Amino acid sequence: LLQLFRPLDMLGWVYRSIRQGLIDMADMFRLLDTQTEVEDAPGAPALLIRRPTVTFEDVSFGYNRDRQILHRLSFEAPAGSTVALVGSSGAGKSTIGRLLFRFYDPWEGRICVDGQDISKVTQSSLRAAIGIVPQDTVLFNDTIGYNIAYGRDDPSENEIRRAAADAAILPFIESLPDGFDTEVGERGLKLSGGEKQRVAIARTLLKDPPILLLDEATSALDSRTEQDILATLKRVSADRTTIAIAHRLSTISDADIIHVMDAGRIVETGSHAKLLKRDGLYAEMWNRQQNEDEEPREAAE
Ligand code: ATP
Repeated sequence: LLQLFRPLDMLGWVYRSIRQGLIDMADMFRLLDTQTEVEDAPGAPALLIRRPTVTFEDVSFGYNRDRQILHRLSFEAPAGSTVALVGSSGAGKSTIGRLLFRFYDPWEGRICVDGQDISKVTQSSLRAAIGIVPQDTVLFNDTIGYNIAYGRDDPSENEIRRAAADAAILPFIESLPDGFDTEVGERGLKLSGGEKQRVAIARTLLKDPPILLLDEATSALDSRTEQDILATLKRVSADRTTIAIAHRLSTISDADIIHVMDAGRIVETGSHAKLLKRDGLYAEMWNRQQNEDEEPREAAE
Protein backbone atom coordinates (compact mmCIF):
# COMPACT_ATOMS: atom_id res chain seq x y z
CA LEU A 1 0.00 0.00 0.00
CA LEU A 2 2.86 2.35 0.83
CA GLN A 3 4.24 1.81 -2.66
CA LEU A 4 0.91 2.88 -4.08
CA PHE A 5 1.02 6.20 -2.31
CA ARG A 6 4.61 7.08 -3.15
CA PRO A 7 3.82 8.68 -6.53
CA LEU A 8 1.19 10.85 -4.83
CA ASP A 9 3.66 11.83 -2.14
CA MET A 10 6.12 12.75 -4.83
CA LEU A 11 3.60 14.89 -6.68
CA GLY A 12 2.83 16.73 -3.47
CA TRP A 13 6.53 17.25 -2.92
CA VAL A 14 7.00 18.67 -6.43
CA TYR A 15 4.05 21.00 -5.98
CA ARG A 16 5.27 22.30 -2.63
CA SER A 17 8.82 22.65 -3.92
CA ILE A 18 7.80 24.62 -6.99
CA ARG A 19 5.63 26.89 -4.89
CA GLN A 20 8.52 27.58 -2.59
CA GLY A 21 10.79 28.03 -5.59
CA LEU A 22 12.99 25.41 -4.08
CA ILE A 23 13.31 22.93 -6.88
CA ASP A 24 16.52 22.73 -8.81
CA MET A 25 17.55 20.69 -11.78
CA ALA A 26 19.37 18.09 -9.73
CA ASP A 27 16.27 17.48 -7.61
CA MET A 28 14.06 17.38 -10.66
CA PHE A 29 16.34 15.00 -12.46
CA ARG A 30 16.57 12.71 -9.46
CA LEU A 31 12.85 12.76 -9.08
CA LEU A 32 11.92 12.09 -12.66
CA ASP A 33 14.53 9.54 -13.45
CA THR A 34 15.62 7.67 -10.43
CA GLN A 35 13.62 8.33 -7.32
CA THR A 36 12.17 4.86 -7.66
CA GLU A 37 15.36 3.20 -8.91
CA VAL A 38 18.24 4.24 -6.71
CA GLU A 39 17.84 3.87 -3.00
CA ASP A 40 20.21 3.91 -0.07
CA ALA A 41 21.27 0.44 1.05
CA PRO A 42 19.71 -0.34 4.45
CA GLY A 43 21.92 1.07 7.19
CA ALA A 44 24.26 2.68 4.63
CA PRO A 45 26.98 4.76 6.26
CA ALA A 46 27.93 8.26 5.14
CA LEU A 47 30.79 8.67 2.69
CA LEU A 48 33.95 9.50 4.57
CA ILE A 49 36.53 11.36 2.54
CA ARG A 50 40.16 11.70 3.44
CA ARG A 51 41.57 11.71 -0.09
CA PRO A 52 38.94 12.38 -2.76
CA THR A 53 40.10 9.89 -5.39
CA VAL A 54 37.41 8.90 -7.89
CA THR A 55 37.61 5.55 -9.67
CA PHE A 56 35.44 3.91 -12.29
CA GLU A 57 36.14 0.19 -12.42
CA ASP A 58 34.86 -1.75 -15.44
CA VAL A 59 31.63 0.22 -15.48
CA SER A 60 28.97 -0.86 -17.97
CA PHE A 61 25.72 1.02 -18.24
CA GLY A 62 22.74 1.86 -20.43
CA TYR A 63 19.55 3.81 -19.77
CA ASN A 64 17.56 0.95 -21.27
CA ARG A 65 18.45 -2.72 -21.29
CA ASP A 66 18.38 -2.84 -25.07
CA ARG A 67 20.98 -0.11 -25.55
CA GLN A 68 24.31 -0.19 -23.78
CA ILE A 69 25.99 3.23 -23.52
CA LEU A 70 29.17 2.60 -21.48
CA HIS A 71 31.29 -0.47 -22.11
CA ARG A 72 33.52 -1.65 -19.25
CA LEU A 73 34.84 1.80 -18.67
CA SER A 74 37.73 2.27 -16.23
CA PHE A 75 39.59 5.39 -15.20
CA GLU A 76 40.92 7.07 -12.10
CA ALA A 77 40.90 10.70 -11.05
CA PRO A 78 43.62 10.90 -8.37
CA ALA A 79 42.89 13.19 -5.41
CA GLY A 80 43.49 16.82 -6.35
CA SER A 81 43.94 16.16 -10.07
CA THR A 82 41.98 17.51 -13.01
CA VAL A 83 40.75 14.82 -15.36
CA ALA A 84 39.03 15.76 -18.61
CA LEU A 85 36.57 13.66 -20.58
CA VAL A 86 36.29 14.62 -24.22
CA GLY A 87 34.85 12.97 -27.29
CA SER A 88 32.17 13.15 -29.89
CA SER A 89 28.58 13.99 -29.10
CA GLY A 90 26.76 11.03 -27.57
CA ALA A 91 30.00 9.29 -26.54
CA GLY A 92 28.75 9.03 -22.94
CA LYS A 93 30.58 11.88 -21.18
CA SER A 94 27.60 13.35 -19.33
CA THR A 95 26.42 9.84 -18.48
CA ILE A 96 29.63 9.41 -16.47
CA GLY A 97 28.72 12.52 -14.47
CA ARG A 98 25.21 11.23 -13.82
CA LEU A 99 26.59 7.90 -12.59
CA LEU A 100 29.07 9.63 -10.29
CA PHE A 101 26.19 11.63 -8.80
CA ARG A 102 24.36 8.31 -8.54
CA PHE A 103 21.31 9.27 -10.52
CA TYR A 104 21.68 5.71 -11.82
CA ASP A 105 23.55 2.57 -10.79
CA PRO A 106 25.90 0.81 -13.23
CA TRP A 107 24.84 -2.51 -14.71
CA GLU A 108 28.24 -3.89 -13.88
CA GLY A 109 31.44 -2.68 -12.28
CA ARG A 110 31.67 -0.10 -9.55
CA ILE A 111 32.39 3.53 -8.88
CA CYS A 112 34.40 4.45 -5.81
CA VAL A 113 35.20 7.67 -4.01
CA ASP A 114 38.18 7.34 -1.69
CA GLY A 115 37.87 3.55 -1.97
CA GLN A 116 34.21 3.43 -0.96
CA ASP A 117 31.66 2.03 -3.41
CA ILE A 118 29.21 4.91 -3.95
CA SER A 119 26.26 2.51 -4.09
CA LYS A 120 26.98 1.51 -0.48
CA VAL A 121 26.99 4.97 1.11
CA THR A 122 24.14 7.44 1.60
CA GLN A 123 23.22 9.45 -1.47
CA SER A 124 23.03 12.64 0.59
CA SER A 125 26.65 12.29 1.78
CA LEU A 126 27.79 11.47 -1.77
CA ARG A 127 26.04 14.48 -3.28
CA ALA A 128 27.26 16.79 -0.54
CA ALA A 129 30.81 15.88 -1.58
CA ILE A 130 30.35 16.82 -5.26
CA GLY A 131 29.89 20.32 -6.62
CA ILE A 132 28.49 20.69 -10.12
CA VAL A 133 29.00 23.65 -12.39
CA PRO A 134 26.47 22.74 -15.07
CA GLN A 135 26.12 23.78 -18.71
CA ASP A 136 23.19 25.98 -18.02
CA THR A 137 22.51 27.23 -14.54
CA VAL A 138 18.91 27.61 -13.57
CA LEU A 139 18.30 30.66 -11.41
CA PHE A 140 15.43 31.06 -9.01
CA ASN A 141 13.16 34.08 -9.10
CA ASP A 142 14.73 35.42 -5.98
CA THR A 143 17.65 37.63 -4.98
CA ILE A 144 21.15 37.09 -6.28
CA GLY A 145 22.22 36.48 -2.66
CA TYR A 146 19.63 33.72 -2.30
CA ASN A 147 20.79 32.17 -5.55
CA ILE A 148 24.39 32.05 -4.34
CA ALA A 149 23.46 30.74 -0.90
CA TYR A 150 21.13 28.04 -2.27
CA GLY A 151 22.16 24.59 -1.12
CA ARG A 152 23.93 25.70 2.06
CA ASP A 153 22.29 25.99 5.45
CA ASP A 154 22.37 29.51 6.67
CA PRO A 155 25.70 30.85 5.41
CA SER A 156 26.86 34.14 6.90
CA GLU A 157 26.88 37.33 4.86
CA ASN A 158 30.65 37.25 4.92
CA GLU A 159 30.80 33.75 3.49
CA ILE A 160 28.46 34.74 0.65
CA ARG A 161 30.60 37.79 -0.12
CA ARG A 162 33.77 35.72 -0.11
CA ALA A 163 32.26 33.13 -2.48
CA ALA A 164 31.11 35.92 -4.82
CA ALA A 165 34.58 37.48 -4.69
CA ASP A 166 36.29 34.16 -5.45
CA ALA A 167 33.92 33.58 -8.36
CA ALA A 168 34.81 37.08 -9.61
CA ILE A 169 31.24 38.33 -9.56
CA LEU A 170 31.45 40.63 -6.50
CA PRO A 171 32.25 43.83 -8.44
CA PHE A 172 29.25 43.19 -10.70
CA ILE A 173 26.93 42.60 -7.72
CA GLU A 174 28.22 45.68 -5.95
CA SER A 175 27.53 47.79 -9.03
CA LEU A 176 23.82 46.95 -8.80
CA PRO A 177 21.69 49.45 -6.84
CA ASP A 178 20.30 46.71 -4.59
CA GLY A 179 23.50 44.65 -4.44
CA PHE A 180 22.94 41.11 -3.13
CA ASP A 181 19.22 41.91 -2.71
CA THR A 182 18.73 42.40 -6.46
CA GLU A 183 15.96 40.19 -7.79
CA VAL A 184 17.12 37.96 -10.67
CA GLY A 185 15.48 35.44 -12.96
CA GLU A 186 12.47 35.81 -15.17
CA ARG A 187 10.85 38.47 -13.05
CA GLY A 188 14.01 40.35 -12.19
CA LEU A 189 17.36 41.17 -13.67
CA LYS A 190 18.40 38.93 -16.54
CA LEU A 191 21.94 37.72 -16.16
CA SER A 192 24.22 36.91 -19.08
CA GLY A 193 25.49 33.35 -19.63
CA GLY A 194 28.83 34.26 -18.05
CA GLU A 195 27.23 35.93 -15.02
CA LYS A 196 24.95 32.94 -14.47
CA GLN A 197 27.94 30.67 -14.59
CA ARG A 198 29.70 32.81 -12.00
CA VAL A 199 26.66 32.50 -9.74
CA ALA A 200 26.95 28.70 -10.16
CA ILE A 201 30.65 28.86 -9.32
CA ALA A 202 29.97 31.01 -6.23
CA ARG A 203 27.24 28.55 -5.15
CA THR A 204 29.71 25.68 -5.55
CA LEU A 205 32.41 27.55 -3.61
CA LEU A 206 30.04 28.08 -0.74
CA LYS A 207 29.32 24.35 -0.68
CA ASP A 208 33.10 23.77 -0.65
CA PRO A 209 33.04 20.22 -2.02
CA PRO A 210 36.19 18.10 -2.34
CA ILE A 211 35.07 16.92 -5.80
CA LEU A 212 34.05 19.14 -8.70
CA LEU A 213 32.14 18.11 -11.79
CA LEU A 214 32.37 20.68 -14.54
CA ASP A 215 29.90 19.91 -17.30
CA GLU A 216 30.98 21.84 -20.36
CA ALA A 217 31.36 24.77 -18.06
CA THR A 218 32.23 27.29 -20.72
CA SER A 219 29.72 26.58 -23.45
CA ALA A 220 27.99 29.42 -25.25
CA LEU A 221 30.27 32.19 -24.03
CA ASP A 222 32.28 34.63 -26.08
CA SER A 223 35.93 33.78 -25.99
CA ARG A 224 37.04 36.60 -23.65
CA THR A 225 34.38 35.66 -21.05
CA GLU A 226 35.34 32.04 -21.58
CA GLN A 227 38.99 32.79 -20.81
CA ASP A 228 38.00 34.76 -17.68
CA ILE A 229 35.76 31.97 -16.44
CA LEU A 230 38.41 29.38 -17.19
CA ALA A 231 40.92 31.30 -15.09
CA THR A 232 38.39 31.42 -12.23
CA LEU A 233 37.64 27.71 -12.53
CA LYS A 234 41.31 26.91 -12.54
CA ARG A 235 41.71 28.66 -9.19
CA VAL A 236 38.59 26.98 -7.82
CA SER A 237 39.64 23.49 -8.87
CA ALA A 238 43.26 23.84 -7.77
CA ASP A 239 43.07 21.68 -4.64
CA ARG A 240 40.00 19.63 -5.54
CA THR A 241 39.52 16.50 -7.59
CA THR A 242 38.00 17.82 -10.79
CA ILE A 243 36.27 15.94 -13.57
CA ALA A 244 35.74 18.22 -16.55
CA ILE A 245 33.41 17.24 -19.37
CA ALA A 246 34.17 19.28 -22.45
CA HIS A 247 33.38 19.75 -26.11
CA ARG A 248 35.90 22.44 -26.75
CA LEU A 249 39.36 21.01 -26.31
CA SER A 250 40.92 24.43 -25.75
CA THR A 251 39.14 24.58 -22.38
CA ILE A 252 40.81 21.45 -21.00
CA SER A 253 44.21 21.33 -22.71
CA ASP A 254 46.05 21.80 -19.42
CA ALA A 255 44.21 18.99 -17.57
CA ASP A 256 46.48 16.47 -15.84
CA ILE A 257 44.90 13.57 -17.72
CA ILE A 258 42.63 13.65 -20.78
CA HIS A 259 40.47 10.66 -21.66
CA VAL A 260 39.12 10.60 -25.19
CA MET A 261 35.81 8.76 -25.49
CA ASP A 262 34.17 7.22 -28.47
CA ALA A 263 30.90 5.28 -28.36
CA GLY A 264 31.07 4.54 -24.62
CA ARG A 265 34.73 3.54 -24.49
CA ILE A 266 37.93 5.34 -23.61
CA VAL A 267 40.01 5.13 -26.76
CA GLU A 268 42.95 7.41 -25.93
CA THR A 269 44.46 8.72 -22.69
CA GLY A 270 47.24 11.18 -21.97
CA SER A 271 48.26 14.79 -21.60
CA HIS A 272 47.44 17.27 -24.34
CA ALA A 273 51.01 17.15 -25.68
CA LYS A 274 51.13 13.36 -25.62
CA LEU A 275 47.78 13.02 -27.35
CA LEU A 276 48.74 15.48 -30.09
CA LYS A 277 51.91 13.52 -30.71
CA ARG A 278 49.95 10.32 -30.95
CA ASP A 279 48.15 11.78 -33.94
CA GLY A 280 44.93 9.87 -33.32
CA LEU A 281 41.35 10.91 -32.60
CA TYR A 282 42.33 13.70 -30.16
CA ALA A 283 44.76 15.23 -32.64
CA GLU A 284 42.10 15.05 -35.34
CA MET A 285 39.53 16.78 -33.09
CA TRP A 286 42.07 19.39 -32.02
CA ASN A 287 43.01 20.25 -35.61
CA ARG A 288 39.38 20.43 -36.64
CA GLN A 289 38.53 22.80 -33.79
CA GLN A 290 41.55 25.00 -34.49
CA ASN A 291 40.35 25.35 -38.09
CA GLU A 292 36.80 26.11 -36.97
CA ASP A 293 38.13 28.85 -34.69
CA GLU A 294 40.05 30.39 -37.56
CA GLU A 295 37.25 30.27 -40.12
CA PRO A 296 35.17 33.26 -38.94
CA ARG A 297 38.29 35.41 -38.81
CA GLU A 298 39.24 34.44 -42.36
CA ALA A 299 35.74 35.19 -43.52
CA ALA A 300 35.91 38.63 -41.97
CA GLU A 301 39.14 39.52 -43.71
P1 ATP B 1 27.17 15.43 -25.68
O1 ATP B 1 28.61 15.76 -25.91
O2 ATP B 1 26.36 15.59 -26.92
O3 ATP B 1 26.58 16.10 -24.47
P2 ATP B 1 27.72 12.99 -24.26
O4 ATP B 1 29.01 12.35 -24.63
O5 ATP B 1 27.70 13.75 -22.97
O6 ATP B 1 27.15 13.86 -25.44
P3 ATP B 1 25.59 11.45 -23.09
O7 ATP B 1 24.72 12.60 -22.75
O8 ATP B 1 26.32 10.77 -22.00
O9 ATP B 1 26.64 11.84 -24.22
O10 ATP B 1 24.69 10.40 -23.86
C1 ATP B 1 25.18 9.14 -24.30
C2 ATP B 1 24.07 8.41 -25.00
O11 ATP B 1 23.05 8.13 -24.05
C3 ATP B 1 23.42 9.21 -26.11
O12 ATP B 1 23.22 8.34 -27.21
C4 ATP B 1 22.08 9.63 -25.56
O13 ATP B 1 21.10 9.63 -26.55
C5 ATP B 1 21.78 8.56 -24.53
N1 ATP B 1 21.01 9.11 -23.41
C6 ATP B 1 21.35 10.16 -22.65
N2 ATP B 1 20.43 10.37 -21.68
C7 ATP B 1 19.49 9.42 -21.83
C8 ATP B 1 18.27 9.08 -21.13
N3 ATP B 1 17.86 9.78 -20.06
N4 ATP B 1 17.55 8.03 -21.60
C9 ATP B 1 17.97 7.31 -22.66
N5 ATP B 1 19.09 7.58 -23.35
C10 ATP B 1 19.85 8.61 -22.96
